[in-house]
Amino acid sequence: MIWQYLPVVMVAVAAPLAYKAKFLDLSGVVFAAVLGLIVGLSLGPLMLAVLLLFLVMNSIFTRLDYVNKALKGAAEPKGGVRTWRSVMANGLVAAVFATLEKIHPGTVFEIGFLGSIAVASADTMSTEIGLLSLRKPRMITNFRVTEPGTSGAITGLGVLGGVLGALIISAVGLLFLHYSINIADPRHSYALVVTTTSSIGGAGMFALIVAVGGVFGSFVDSFLGGTLQGRFVCATCGTRTERAVHCGARATRLSGLRFLDNDTVNVLAVAAGAAFASSLYLLLKPF
Ligand SMILES: [Zn+2]
Repeated sequence: MIWQYLPVVMVAVAAPLAYKAKFLDLSGVVFAAVLGLIVGLSLGPLMLAVLLLFLVMNSIFTRLDYVNKALKGAAEPKGGVRTWRSVMANGLVAAVFATLEKIHPGTVFEIGFLGSIAVASADTMSTEIGLLSLRKPRMITNFRVTEPGTSGAITGLGVLGGVLGALIISAVGLLFLHYSINIADPRHSYALVVTTTSSIGGAGMFALIVAVGGVFGSFVDSFLGGTLQGRFVCATCGTRTERAVHCGARATRLSGLRFLDNDTVNVLAVAAGAAFASSLYLLLKPF
């Protein structure tokens, strides 16, 4: 019983802390609390803990060397405080997969849920760690050297950061999935998962599926960012920008699709990684 309502307590404790620590602004906290409740009540407190772990990691890496990145002009605006847009871009797909798992239990959507967090984690870590690279990044499409912070720009260090980000979530996610199924949550009784996560090889496959989904999604993010994402030039001040509106006016489109901004690309990439992880699981299910 207590286990069931623990997510409510966790959200009630974490939300004010995230606000106080300036991880999120007020709009971000409200949206994160709603998404957190959906995830916690659908998948249990341990999966909610994976989401919280992502939020903490995300915030720490965003602040890593913030001043240096601000000088390069590539830092997140507002000192790294995330708004509701960023919360939705990273968490919407996770909430959808959590709800699907609740409606249709069987682990496949839970793997997709973990895959979505792995994408978000890989994205954040590849971006934040990649910006620390001493070498200039190259475009994922034609490998031409470009400016740091450009959508679709990648560095070796960034790719490594992304793989690390996906691996951390997949390892923790696997551990928690194992425990939430085995001991804590009587709702789960999937003999298959218990047996496979109990063997080293099976556990490795679980973790690999989530991590591969995460890295896949992160590459989708870079690729869409380098191709279809809208690029604009401001008619007022002449700045080249990824925002469709600049200086309070509609900016002129240089390339890409007008409606496809950074956050939309993010949602699509996270969805692609989650779907990829779920599909891999279905494909390899018996291992
Ligand atoms: Zn402007």
